[in-house]
Amino acid sequence: MTDISRDMPWLQQAWDRVQAGFAENRLPHALIVNGERGVGKRAWAEAVAELLLCDSPTGGDSGRPVACGRCKQCELLAADSHPDVRVYAPEKSRMVKVDQVRALSAFAVASPQVAHHKVAIIDRADQLNINAANALLKTLEEPLPDVTLLLLQESGRPLLPTIRSRCQALNIPVPPKPQAEDWLARTLAQRDPDQVYPGEVLSKALMLAGNAPRLAAEYVSGDFLDLRDAAFEAFRQYMKGRGTVAEAAKAFKALGLDDALFLLEGWAADLARVAAGGQPSDSEAADMLSFLARHNPAWKAHELLDNIRESRAAGVYNANPELEATRILLAWRSMMPGKRAS
Ligand SMILES: [Zn+2]
Repeated sequence: MTDISRDMPWLQQAWDRVQAGFAENRLPHALIVNGERGVGKRAWAEAVAELLLCDSPTGGDSGRPVACGRCKQCELLAADSHPDVRVYAPEKSRMVKVDQVRALSAFAVASPQVAHHKVAIIDRADQLNINAANALLKTLEEPLPDVTLLLLQESGRPLLPTIRSRCQALNIPVPPKPQAEDWLARTLAQRDPDQVYPGEVLSKALMLAGNAPRLAAEYVSGDFLDLRDAAFEAFRQYMKGRGTVAEAAKAFKALGLDDALFLLEGWAADLARVAAGGQPSDSEAADMLSFLARHNPAWKAHELLDNIRESRAAGVYNANPELEATRILLAWRSMMPGKRAS
């Protein structure tokens, strides 16, 4: 028996909507799920697939239906090998391509193989290229009774209005900090009971992940925290005129383009917050950002954000992470008073 909102209480509202729609047999054929990176969109989608495919959903704690966890469908899903659930995610190009959406369309019209229903998940619908989006539109225009499409989208990223208008949308919020801390500690302990992480490592991972718990878990168990600290230090030294842009760009290159842009975007968004009198989410960057905010007009932060969006768009075409980091670092450096000429 699986009730996802027990493990991840911040999914409650989005989960309630699905349970209620399912109980009353009026679940839409396509749902868009918005949420920050690492907040649990994929886990939510997998729970929805389980509920829709289960042979004998039962009443959970709330009396609302949950998957039984014991039938053949639930077993196949638990083993991650159910032929009636497909996930389409960006490949190396960082985009979901038209071939993948064609495969999805073929899957949508075929009969279910084992279950009575099918679920297609696009993880991430905001990364559909234009041909793929048009192909998806055709599938959305001719809804089929035995397939549900779940389109997962990162907050703040654009999705074609033509697609949006054909789907119902749900939001998954970032949990409050205590909830995120609780989930993170519990999940890491389940994964490896012998590994003990100091509290400050968990706090820092959550701070850098904007309290998105799954992203924080990824940060703690991978090398992101070390690479981020090295990049932040190189960035600070460069801003103070103590290092070259090439040295700083190298530290960002080590993170890879996506994470490098994610960091630089976070600081630019923090700069906009500080300029508007708010608090930065990355407290370690607070001093540098308040200094920059005092010496620059507020629109500069938005110019930086535009720069980063351009790099992200270029990333689709395999942009060079070092070059993109260099371009953005130069824009940051031009904001240091007295250093504008360089
Ligand atoms: Zn079941």
